[in-house]
Amino acid sequence: MSTLKIEGLCAEVAGKEILRGINLTVNSGEVHAIMGPNGAGKSTLSAVIMGKPGYTVTAGSVTLDGVDILALPTWKRATAGLHLVMQYPTEVPGVHVDEMLTEALSARGRSSADLASRISSEAGRINFDAELVSRALNVDLSGGEKKRNETLQLGVLEPKIAILDELDSGLDIDALRDCARRVEAATHENNLGVLAITHYVRLLEELKPDVVHILAAGRIVKTAGPELADELERDGYAAFV
Ligand code: ADP
Ligand code: MG
Repeated sequence: MSTLKIEGLCAEVAGKEILRGINLTVNSGEVHAIMGPNGAGKSTLSAVIMGKPGYTVTAGSVTLDGVDILALPTWKRATAGLHLVMQYPTEVPGVHVDEMLTEALSARGRSSADLASRISSEAGRINFDAELVSRALNVDLSGGEKKRNETLQLGVLEPKIAILDELDSGLDIDALRDCARRVEAATHENNLGVLAITHYVRLLEELKPDVVHILAAGRIVKTAGPELADELERDGYAAFV
């Protein structure tokens, strides 16, 4: 059982305050959706949790099982069990998925002896063309293929908590279903906790959230059950911003 705990988190970027006191607790096996208008600070929250350069935390804390995550470099946040699926996955010419996963497993003290079979089984689960796995990381992949690639990595690395920054952006309907179902399965098989940033109910139909939060202007302004997502789809954010 793991817990990602965010308390009173304030952060600025380029001298501008973006996060203004975020409180959020995600436990193993739980799915928390974060919805909110463009520019609300959703991606900033994911960047601050993972330690992307350029963001300054001005107050508050982020802990994973009591460990001060903000004190760690990004790679140690990852080996501690946090995993970010980026909204726009980075292309890394010259580095192949299996090489990257070998290093990542080694940094976690885990063997990569069965990596090839893990990769092919994960690729099969999300209908990811095994041929694409042999390409340099995300290079010349379509938007949907990149997200499948990111989902494959999540499947192999088995993090404790996954942050999905618009997993649904750039995905067609089939890819969205495959990726969302794989993540949903991990919440049962590995007790994965999920923080899913999204604009669309379609993702949440597969990745059934326990809780839906609305993030607006750097604060969580409402938290409710999954019915909140349907309400937002119908009425928009006007009542909350
Ligand atoms: P969301 O993901 O909710 O759409 P973001 O977290 O990406 O919003 O952005 C929140 C605000 O922070 C926006 O006004 C955005 O322009 C600003 N912002 C984010 N990153 C940077 C940056 N690197 N430099 C300047 N402004 C930024
Ligand atoms: Mg964003």
